[in-house]
Amino acid sequence: MVEVATKPKLSDVINRYFSHLKEIQIQPDRGHPDVEVDCAARVHICKTVCCRFKLALTREEVERGLKFDIDNPYIMRKGSDGYCYETKDGGCGIYESRPVACRTYSCAKDKRVWEDFDRMIPGKRVREMSFQV
Ligand code: SF4
Ligand code: SF4
Repeated sequence: MVEVATKPKLSDVINRYFSHLKEIQIQPDRGHPDVEVDCAARVHICKTVCCRFKLALTREEVERGLKFDIDNPYIMRKGSDGYCYETKDGGCGIYESRPVACRTYSCAKDKRVWEDFDRMIPGKRVREMSFQV
């Protein structure tokens, strides 16, 4: 017997779409690129937590081959360590062609990363992570 696929209900599709949007943690318009961030002086504390956030790829980025999570289109794929798939040697392996979300993001006003940016006091996401990695 051939199984006939049932059409998903529109309400289910809409609910899935909105819960998907809520999960995205870095979007191109959510950064604060006006504030210069001295990453090199901070990575020993932040552990590059920004490369663990979910980030949304643009259509152009998907089309040029950036890998996304098959179960979460079009969220940048992560490795088994929870870091972005393109992380390499503790840095970005595709720095020159990294997604626009990475280019425009700044952690300077992101309380998940820095409870106090100037005094380099880590935020909740970083503190939680120190037990994971
Ligand atoms: S969390 Fe901030 S300081 Fe750390 S690597 Fe990312 S942008 Fe740089
Ligand atoms: S593309 Fe590069 S900068 Fe962006 S999350 Fe991945 S490793 Fe980090």
